[in-house]
Amino acid sequence: MDKISLKAMGKINLALDVLGRRENGYHDVRMIMQSVQIYDRLTISKSREAGITVTTNRSYLPTDQGNLVYQAAKLLIDEFKITEGIHIELKKFLPVAAGMAGGSSDAAAVLYGMNRMFRLGLSGNDLMKRGVKIGADIPFCIMRGTVLSEGIGEILTPLTPAPSCHVLIAKPGINVSTRYVYEKLDSCPINDHPDIDGMLAAIDASDFYAMAGKLGNVLEQITKAEYPVIGEIESVMLSHGAAGAAMSGSGPTVFGLFDDEEKALAAYDLLKEGHLAKQIYLTKFFNTHRRQEENHAGL
Ligand code: ATP
Repeated sequence: MDKISLKAMGKINLALDVLGRRENGYHDVRMIMQSVQIYDRLTISKSREAGITVTTNRSYLPTDQGNLVYQAAKLLIDEFKITEGIHIELKKFLPVAAGMAGGSSDAAAVLYGMNRMFRLGLSGNDLMKRGVKIGADIPFCIMRGTVLSEGIGEILTPLTPAPSCHVLIAKPGINVSTRYVYEKLDSCPINDHPDIDGMLAAIDASDFYAMAGKLGNVLEQITKAEYPVIGEIESVMLSHGAAGAAMSGSGPTVFGLFDDEEKALAAYDLLKEGHLAKQIYLTKFFNTHRRQEENHAGL
């Protein structure tokens, strides 16, 4: 196999709680992660010249070790002493620095794809152990689907797929640094923890309305205080029939869950007309956990 094409799925956080901060700066989290059907496209090909080259349709992204796909490729090249070169073509469609784990998902796709291309024989767990060295969300991005994520993001429990619905995703035209939001959180008391156990029960019971009623994210108090547009987008979604709306990750992306596509489309139009969001997507959950033995040609 000299070439492989992969989809790197984005995610939203149905719930995100922070339990504490470790001495090394990492945070202990408890999150319910959900893949969505918006993705970047990667093509990895072998090249005769040794080394890693990256091209991307987003000129502002680094193409050297600053890019997470580069770091993922380098990790496997160094460990397995791969002598052939690698070219990664990254077509970004996911919003960048948005709380949708775009970079992590790209890196996860590289680990997964190179494992297949070079027949490295690594299991999903082996890939996740390596992925977490690059980024805390990478293990989830390898697994995908509906997942409870604990520890710093490396303790994963796959869940029953969350009940299907229409997901409206809106990213305002601001960029938020994940590191900044976590640092700010460390100096603030957390007043309102999401009911993760309640959400787990709702998902287990396939109860869409109970699930949508329990969306919550402790990072929202930080990001929303600085960027009121997050609250404004949520209000538009809720007043147009969303059963729930919340911020994803450290933001600024906001998502709303709808039981009806027409309502979601009406909210989509309104957000567009009001220029509240720069990027808007109407999508659905992606609910296939990635398994090692799957044939992912084209995925
Ligand atoms: P998370 O939800 O994990 O916090 P995010 O959506 O907030 O992720 P990313 O889109 O992954 O953030 O990107 C954050 C930063 O990482 C960007 O500012 C960018 O410069 C850098 N970066 C490195 N590699 C990538 C990549 N492949 N795609 C996007 N950003 C990347």
